[in-house]
Amino acid sequence: MEPPTRPSPADPLDTRPPAFSPGEAADIAERIFGLTGSTSPLDSERDQNFRFTSDAQRSFLLKISNGADDPAVLEMQTQAMLHIAHQDPGLPVMQPLTTLEGGYHGEVEGAGGDKQLVRLFTFVPGRAVDTVELSPSARRGFGSMVARMGLALRGFFHPAGGYRILWDLKHTPQLRPLLEAVPGGRRYLVEQVLERFEERVRTVLPSLRAQLIHNDLTLDNVLLDDVQRVTGIVDFGDLTHTAVICDLAIALVSLTWHTSDPLEASRQVINGYTSISLIEEGEADVLADLVLARLAALVLIANWRVIRYPENAAYITANQEIAWRLLEHFDSLTWPKVQACMRAACLRAPESSDPGPRPSIEELLERRRRALGPALSPLSYQTPLHLLRGDGSHVFDHEGNAYLDAYNNVPVAGHCHPRVVAAIAEQSSALNTNTRYLHESVVELAERLVATMPPGLDTVMFFNSGSEANDIAWRLATAYTGRAGGIVTAHAYHGVTTATAALSPEEWGDSERAPYIATIPAPDGYRGPHRREEQGGAGRYATHFDEAVATLESRGFRPAALFADSLFTSDGIFAPPATYLQELVRRVRRAGCLFVADEVQCGFGRSGSHLWSFQAAGVAPDFVTLGKPMGNGHPVAAVVTRAEIAERFASHSDVFSTFGGNPVACRAALAVLDVLEQEGLQDRARVVGRHLRSSLETVMKRHRSIGDVRGAGLLIGVDLVHDRGTRRPTPRLAHALTNRMKERGVLVGSTGPDGNVLKIRPPLVLTTHEADVISQTLDACLDELEAAAPGEGFESCPAGEP
Ligand code: PMP
Repeated sequence: MEPPTRPSPADPLDTRPPAFSPGEAADIAERIFGLTGSTSPLDSERDQNFRFTSDAQRSFLLKISNGADDPAVLEMQTQAMLHIAHQDPGLPVMQPLTTLEGGYHGEVEGAGGDKQLVRLFTFVPGRAVDTVELSPSARRGFGSMVARMGLALRGFFHPAGGYRILWDLKHTPQLRPLLEAVPGGRRYLVEQVLERFEERVRTVLPSLRAQLIHNDLTLDNVLLDDVQRVTGIVDFGDLTHTAVICDLAIALVSLTWHTSDPLEASRQVINGYTSISLIEEGEADVLADLVLARLAALVLIANWRVIRYPENAAYITANQEIAWRLLEHFDSLTWPKVQACMRAACLRAPESSDPGPRPSIEELLERRRRALGPALSPLSYQTPLHLLRGDGSHVFDHEGNAYLDAYNNVPVAGHCHPRVVAAIAEQSSALNTNTRYLHESVVELAERLVATMPPGLDTVMFFNSGSEANDIAWRLATAYTGRAGGIVTAHAYHGVTTATAALSPEEWGDSERAPYIATIPAPDGYRGPHRREEQGGAGRYATHFDEAVATLESRGFRPAALFADSLFTSDGIFAPPATYLQELVRRVRRAGCLFVADEVQCGFGRSGSHLWSFQAAGVAPDFVTLGKPMGNGHPVAAVVTRAEIAERFASHSDVFSTFGGNPVACRAALAVLDVLEQEGLQDRARVVGRHLRSSLETVMKRHRSIGDVRGAGLLIGVDLVHDRGTRRPTPRLAHALTNRMKERGVLVGSTGPDGNVLKIRPPLVLTTHEADVISQTLDACLDELEAAAPGEGFESCPAGEP
C-alpha cells in the first residue's frame, strides 16, 4: 500500500468524537440496556466515555463510539474481551454487558445523522497512575501482565482483524508526511527514528510472530491499586493484528515515562514479560526500534491532531513533551546502546530460571509414585497440576496456563512477594545459623509478635511448622498443669506429629483415637444441633465443653488444654458469635485447663477484623500457635505463651530446634509482617472478603445446591447440599466443582467432615475483580454441572425462589 499523504478520511483519529450531554447519555443507557442512573463524562481521544452509576449504585463504563469506527471492528473488540476473560480469567479486563435485545451493541444517531455504536462495560477498579514512578516489582508485574494478554489473545481470530490503525507500529513509515508539522529544532530526532525503522525493522517485521494484540497497554489503560498491582485493563480501541512484540514496546514507553533510569525500568518490565513468555531473537533485535517508533508516533500524531482539534489541545499534547524528552534521553545514550541493552534483557533467562526440557505429567507421576509412595497425602485434582511459578494471586503451570489461586493461604502476601523473596535471599547470602547464637532478627521478630498479642502473652519460641508449634504447646501445657487430657473439636486438625495427630480427629482412623483426647462439636450454626437462627444460636455450643471434661474424667484423665482454630477450618469453616469463645474460655478456666488458640491457618489478618482470629472474641489464650503464612511459604512457626508457663517448663527441661528461628526464617517472617502492614492486607481481607461473600450469596440465589455461605474475611466456606430442606451434604458436587473450576483457571478446595464445603482462602492480595472471577466461575461451573447431570441433585433455583 502506498503511504497516504495524511491519515485516511475514514480514520477515527481524523473524525470528531460524539458529543452527547450526560443527560442524553443516561437516557441512552436506559433505552438500550434498561438501566436507570446518572452519568459523568470521562476522557477519551476519539470516543465519548461516561461513568454510568446505576440506581443500585453499581458503576459501568458507557462508551459511545466514534461514528467513523467500523461496527465490525467494535464487534471484534467486544469478542476479544470475552475471549480473554475465558482464556485467563485472572486478567482484570473490562467486560461487555448485554443490551435489552441480547447483543452487546446498541445504536444512536449523532448530531450529523451518522450512526454511533453504544456499549456498556463493567467498571474495573483502580486508578490510571500515569504520573507516578512505579516500583520495580510493579514494573515486573506490568510486564508479566503484558505477556499474559498476548497469551490470552493467541488463539483469537476475527475477520475485522486486518483493519488499519495509525497506532499500529508496522505503519510507522506512513507517518513520514506528518513530519512537516513538526517544528524544526527537534525534527531530526524523529527523522532518525524513521530512517532506522526503514533500515532495521520494516523488512523484518513481517517475519515476526503476529496476532491480534491490545496495542495500547499503557498506564492510561491499565489501572492499578494503591500498591501498584494491576486491577483493571480497559480500552480495546487500538486492538489490531500486528507483531506480538509491539505490545511490549508500547508498554515500555509508558512505563519509562517518569523514571530516572529508563533502561533499568525497561529491564524490569522485560523481565516480568519473559517470566511468562519467551521473546524470540528477531523480536529482541527490533524491540528498541519499536520503542523509538512508538515515541515518534506519539509526537507526530499529537502534533497533527492539535492542528486539527485545537480545542482538545490540552488532552492531546499532555504527554507529548515527555515523549520528546525520552527521545532525547535515548539519543544521548546512543541508540545502539539502547538497542543492545533491551536486546540483552529480552534474551536473558527469566529470573525464575528455566531448567530446560521438563518431564511429561505421566512420567513425573510415575516417578513420584515410586519415589514418594502411597502414605503421603494424594495430589489435588483429577488431573494433577504441575506448577512452576507464582505471582501475586496467580500460579502458572508447566504449559504457562494461569490459575487464580483461591486456595492457598500460605502465600498470604501473594506468591513470591518480592520483598519476602529479597529478605530471604539477602539473609541467606549473609548468614544462616541457629538460636544458640545472638541474632537481632529473632529478637526483633519475637518483640513484634508480642506487641500484637493481648497483655501477658509475652514469650515466643520459634519452630518450623504448625505441627511442631502445637506439639510444643501440648508439651508445655501438660507440664504446666500436670495433667494428660486434651479437648479438640470433632473434625479438627492440629498437626502431623504423634502428639498432634492425637489432637486431630480429621486424621483419625478407626483405631487411632487416643483415650486421653475428648471432642466437642464445632459451633456449626447451619447443620448442627444449635442453629444460628435459634435463640442463643451457635453460642450454645460452649456447653459441650463440660461434657468432654466428664468424658475424659470417666477415662481417668483431666484436661490439660483445649486446642481450637478460631475459624474451625477443618470442621467446615465457622465464625460463631463472640459469645461462643468467651463462654468456652470461661469454662476452660473453670476446669483448670489451658486454652491454645491455633492460629496456624486463620492467623495473619485472614479474618479481616483482627490480625489473630481469636481477638474478635476479646479472649486471652494461654498459648497462640502460628505457622503456615508466617514466612509466606518459607518454613517458620512460633508458640507464644506466658512467661510463667515457659518458666515452669524451664525448671526441668528446655527446647531447641536446629532450624527453628534461624536468621533467614526470621527475616522472611519480618518481611511478611512489613508487607501486611504496608499493603494494608488485613483491611483488604475484610473489604474484598465482604465483596466476595456477597457475590457468592448472589450465586447462591441461583443454585439450590448451595445451602450456606459463611466465614470471615478471606476464609469462606460454601456449603453444598442435596437440597436445602434436609441440608444433606453433597461431597460429590464439591469434588466435581473443585475439578471443574480448576479446568476454568480457579483453584479452590474442600473441607468439613463430609468434604462438601468449598474452601476459599486466597492470598490476601486478592482484588475485587479476582473475587468476581471466583464467584462467576463457581456460577458457570454449577450451571454446567446442573446441565450435565439433571436429577443428580445439582439443581439451580427456579427464578425467584429463595
Ligand atoms: N494447625 C492448623 C489449624 C492447621 O491448619 C495446620 C495445617 N493444615 C497445622 C496446625 C499443621 O501445620 P503444618 O502442616 O505446618 O505442620
